[in-house]
Amino acid sequence: MKIMINGINAGLRFSSAHIIPAHSSCGFIHGHSYFVDVEIIGERTGNYEFVTDFKDVKTIVRSICKKLDHRLLIPINNQNMKFKGVDSSGKSLDNNENIDSNELSVLDFCNKDYVEFSIKNKEYKIPMEDCVLLPLKHSSAEEMSQYFANILFEELMKKEHEIDSVSVCVNEGIGQGACFKKIS
Ligand SMILES: [Zn+2]
Repeated sequence: MKIMINGINAGLRFSSAHIIPAHSSCGFIHGHSYFVDVEIIGERTGNYEFVTDFKDVKTIVRSICKKLDHRLLIPINNQNMKFKGVDSSGKSLDNNENIDSNELSVLDFCNKDYVEFSIKNKEYKIPMEDCVLLPLKHSSAEEMSQYFANILFEELMKKEHEIDSVSVCVNEGIGQGACFKKIS
């Protein structure tokens, strides 16, 4: 059986700024009012014969939305973003050397007050508290849907549900979005 949660009606939303580095029209910091739709396919189990409890799903998705809300989304594994003062072994560099962002993890930015990066000839310095660092190549709807689906799937698996798949659509406002299906 399939259960569905509509992000607009259920309040699974966040408003964030992002940038698609080096893209001709999306390569400027801009924002979206996102909403997140969810579909879960699985067996009906337990005392109540639910696929999953809607409340559990909404709690998990809302917690991700809350983390992203009112922040600039920074995909730290983007090939076009060169981060200053960070290396992939977790130590800050003294010489402001630019390094390949491919291998960076979120932990490499711990204890930093600012995120400094360049995209081609543009340089950015953003307070860390204004950002969310994501272990992604892009902050596109495509990658964000995969990010949500993976976390939701992992969290639901802890609750002993018999789930066949978790699909998440991340919509950049009404009319466009991307869906990712995580299969058990
Ligand atoms: Zn955008």
